[in-house]
Amino acid sequence: MNSKDSHDIPPDHPRYESLKLRAKVVDAYKSGVLADSGLIAYGRGEAFDYLLGEETSSVAKKAIETAAATLLLAENPVISVNGNTAALVPEKVVELASTLDAKIEINLFYRTPERVQAIKKVLNDAGAAEVLGDEDDPKHITGLESPRSRVSREGIYRADVVLVPLEDGDRAQALVSNGKKVVTVDLNPLSRTAKTATVTIVDNLVRVMPQLIQEVKRLQLMGTSTLQDIVDGFDNQQNLQDSLKLMLESLS
Ligand code: ATP
Ligand code: MG
Repeated sequence: MNSKDSHDIPPDHPRYESLKLRAKVVDAYKSGVLADSGLIAYGRGEAFDYLLGEETSSVAKKAIETAAATLLLAENPVISVNGNTAALVPEKVVELASTLDAKIEINLFYRTPERVQAIKKVLNDAGAAEVLGDEDDPKHITGLESPRSRVSREGIYRADVVLVPLEDGDRAQALVSNGKKVVTVDLNPLSRTAKTATVTIVDNLVRVMPQLIQEVKRLQLMGTSTLQDIVDGFDNQQNLQDSLKLMLESLS
């Protein structure tokens, strides 16, 4: 089911790209992929994106390079997918997972069996052969109450690096406390997730995914020590400060 809006946007509208993405998100809400609060989270992201001029900054590019290196150095990388991610970039999730040989796991804040199955279908339709996160016998990570603590035995539970776009701050913290490296994408450099993660990419997920795939492909040809140098040379708190500075400059 497509929202009526997605067919009615004139291509010459100055906000065409933005409106098209909104229609995509609304469609995902209507089909049960996205929770109502996912719409609000998307709107908050849009506001920060305005302050970035809706462009990937050089600061974000540095974080993308580090994210790619971190994922390539991982033994068991997992891509965690929520409703917003499934709504916006399902094909890119599948492409990144196959490029990295990473697992895909559905991980929801507002979890219902129906939403899990709706997201699984979106990922399968996008080409995913295996999607974790709907097992009857999940494991639990410490620091969160059940059901938010549930993780897949073969996925996040044994992962060393987790890519979790648009994650909730509590869960990002719990993943870090459980010894995982967390790579996140969050347009808000002030969010708890952004501050807690190991690598935070302050940019729109829609722009990040193709660039992250490209970086993984480029860095795949490099040796481990080169990747480690990239990771060691990155300071996440500094990168967040730099992103915030760009936003503040855009206001003046
Ligand atoms: P936290 O719990 O980390 O403090 P929060 O409560 O501020 O986060 P959430 O609702 O948990 O926010 O998560 C939504 C986050 O995702 C927001 O910070 C928003 O800026 C960001 N976001 C929304 N859409 C996108 C997008 N397309 N690309 C990147 N980030 C996005
Ligand atoms: Mg957050």
